Amino acid sequence: MRHYQLFIDGEFTDAASGQTFESRNPSDGNVIATVAKGGREDVARAITAARRAFDEGPWPSMTPAERSAILLRLAAILQERQGELSELEAEDAGHTLRLANLFTVPLAVNHLQFLAEEAGRLEYTESIAQRAPFPAPAWNFVQREPYGVCAGIIPWNFPLIMAVWKAAPALATGNTMVLKPSPYTPATATEFVAAAGEAGVPKGVLNVVHGTGPIAGEALVTDARVDKVAFTGSTAVGKRIMQLASETLKKVTLELGGKGPTILLDDADLDIAVPGALWATYLHGGQMCESGTRCFVPAGLYDEVVARLVESSEGLTVGSAMDFASDIGPLVDHRQVDTVKRYVQIGQDEGAKLLTGGDVPTGVPQGGYYFAPTIFGGVENSMRIAQEEIFGPVLSVIRYESVEEAIRLANDTIYGLAGSVWSRDIPRALEVAKRIKNGTVWINDHHLLSAAAPHGGYKQSGLGRELGRWGLEEYLQVKHIHVDQTPTKDQKFWYQVIGL
Ligand code: NAD
Repeated sequence: MRHYQLFIDGEFTDAASGQTFESRNPSDGNVIATVAKGGREDVARAITAARRAFDEGPWPSMTPAERSAILLRLAAILQERQGELSELEAEDAGHTLRLANLFTVPLAVNHLQFLAEEAGRLEYTESIAQRAPFPAPAWNFVQREPYGVCAGIIPWNFPLIMAVWKAAPALATGNTMVLKPSPYTPATATEFVAAAGEAGVPKGVLNVVHGTGPIAGEALVTDARVDKVAFTGSTAVGKRIMQLASETLKKVTLELGGKGPTILLDDADLDIAVPGALWATYLHGGQMCESGTRCFVPAGLYDEVVARLVESSEGLTVGSAMDFASDIGPLVDHRQVDTVKRYVQIGQDEGAKLLTGGDVPTGVPQGGYYFAPTIFGGVENSMRIAQEEIFGPVLSVIRYESVEEAIRLANDTIYGLAGSVWSRDIPRALEVAKRIKNGTVWINDHHLLSAAAPHGGYKQSGLGRELGRWGLEEYLQVKHIHVDQTPTKDQKFWYQVIGL
């Protein structure tokens, strides 16, 4: 049994209240760790440490290259511990060992490396032309500066990657951070901040407080000493955070939910597109913001595509995350299983046809939180199963008559995070991609987020961008500095405006 503590000012510590909560392995429901339950006092202490590290410590005034070198050491430590971190992510967050080893940890390392290096390539001082009405001899430039103390609030689906997505851009650009992981998944985020200390990140620069959203999360969002909140999670909580942050007008970036379309055009290569639609839906059991859970199929291909989707889906193995044979692991919690069950009922009540799955599968380990890969046919885009984020392995197949109709339906949602278009004709697919109101559109693939490309949502999928230089810029303020070189007071004729 492990015990995860808070990490404040470079030291592991229990909560001031002494309270703890339990963390369970979703593969069998067993308690695997106790976790210090941070409250308002702990959050205040972490903010004080981050504030001091920013206001008095060396971190913000180090050169980008110096900070980058430390973060690259951190990436190397994570890479060395790939096996151990993969096992932790499997045990704590239900990533199958294949997902954790092939995707989660390599991606976390790759994204950290890229963001650390890219921060060194940004222009922090940029000369600009003077366009004032007074032609003063002056030098004008823009200085990019860190915001200060950032709060990083992250969900349970990809705890290590989410910790990297928050801490890497914040730290690489000279900010300090208090990170709050989801109470469901404390493990790898704690390992991450400890490794940051080993890599040479100074004390107070990166802190972690475990705790609930309403207590620890809201304490972070409302504290006037926090300059920016970077949140990833549900759209409902994102709205609450934006409201709370408005009291102190904090900078806010929000990475929220999605209901991604996968649009199969009539010339799609079905050998790639059919498994592609399942890849879009079932990776990590559908517990991904950018999952493609609405599959749009031309009427002429509908029966063939549905038959192939169902056949492939029924060939997938659901089982323990710790088993290399499992294609799909558990959901994070029994409440998530209940949510998915509820949506299956809603889909049936709305008149969609349950083609496969729809319940807890047989032959899975006792006590775990499993759900069978599920496909609904005959779905109307207006149904709740096509409009609301389910966050489980549920695919809605929607028939369309024309590409115009597919585009209209794909955009008919409050969300706009990510989607995909499948076709052999790339120029044609590009025309469709341009008209999809999503922050990311893949052609003939899904889920392949790049460290160099911006990731974020249109509409109610979020505000701002993560990754790439766009993600780094979200952590930098721009300051205009004007250096006046007018030699004498008489030449400063604008002083006459107030008679000087
Ligand atoms: P959630 O919104 O319930 O919780 C996310 C985090 O916010 C957790 O740390 C939680 O403790 C905290 N929180 C909850 N209430 C809070 C409050 N009132 N104040 C401050 N913090 C609060 O989300 P979840 O269930 O953990 O994660 C799933 C959601 O995350 C899905 O909607 C998914 O689409 C989204 N997500 C988005 C992205 C993206 O990049 N857009 C990536 C991953 C997950």
